[in-house]
Amino acid sequence: MNPLFAENNSPSVRDALRRGRRTVAILPCGATEAHGPHLPLNTDVIISETMAAAAVPALEQRGYAIAILPPLAYMPAGFAAAFAGTITVSEATAMALVLDIAMNVKRLGFACLALANSHFDPANVAMLRAAADEIRGFGLPVAFPDFTRRKLAQTLTEEFRSGACHAGQYETSLVMAARPDLVDEAARLRLDDNPASLTEAFAKGARSFSEAGGPDAYFGYPRQASAAEGFESFKILAARLVDAIAEAVA
Ligand SMILES: [Zn+2]
Repeated sequence: MNPLFAENNSPSVRDALRRGRRTVAILPCGATEAHGPHLPLNTDVIISETMAAAAVPALEQRGYAIAILPPLAYMPAGFAAAFAGTITVSEATAMALVLDIAMNVKRLGFACLALANSHFDPANVAMLRAAADEIRGFGLPVAFPDFTRRKLAQTLTEEFRSGACHAGQYETSLVMAARPDLVDEAARLRLDDNPASLTEAFAKGARSFSEAGGPDAYFGYPRQASAAEGFESFKILAARLVDAIAEAVA
């Protein structure tokens, strides 16, 4: 089976699922939303898909067969709703879609569904946490490495831990590693530092990037970004995804 699930034909999926190896479906969870003036709207889709792809070799080495599902590209993105390009859907719509996909993953015979998420709008994270609980409730093991939890956030970069984690050094580095052709370098190099912490703003009740101190839909230090940092972060994201899958399937 090709790890890119949708590129398989139906018989090869059937045969892979019959073969008795433990099969894991990975759902990359992103969004279509503004990421500053320098990154593409599909930044979170790119990060989640690349994280999933980077986890495949280690998972295959452990004996799993992997299917990376087509990504979730429309998710709750209220914080970015005021910016051109953002398409946001309600938590209920997103939840229904995730649960329907999970039901199908179970019916097809996968051993586990992994949620590879890099879209940290609080409504999206809350939806995914609730969805993971429901999916476990109907008997499908779920791996959800939640990078907004301190234990996992601590394994990522200093800027990410500070909460300035949207379109800054961290995310810009990841896109520079995965899709450098989609980074507007001239725009990136003109950006001032913006140390405002999104996570602190969430806690204080902000409801938009502007209210959170990000009038241009970015936080942190995009000028400090590098592809080298991005490759390092992908290694860490992939390792955490592998850990979560091994734990869920065990
Ligand atoms: Zn993002």
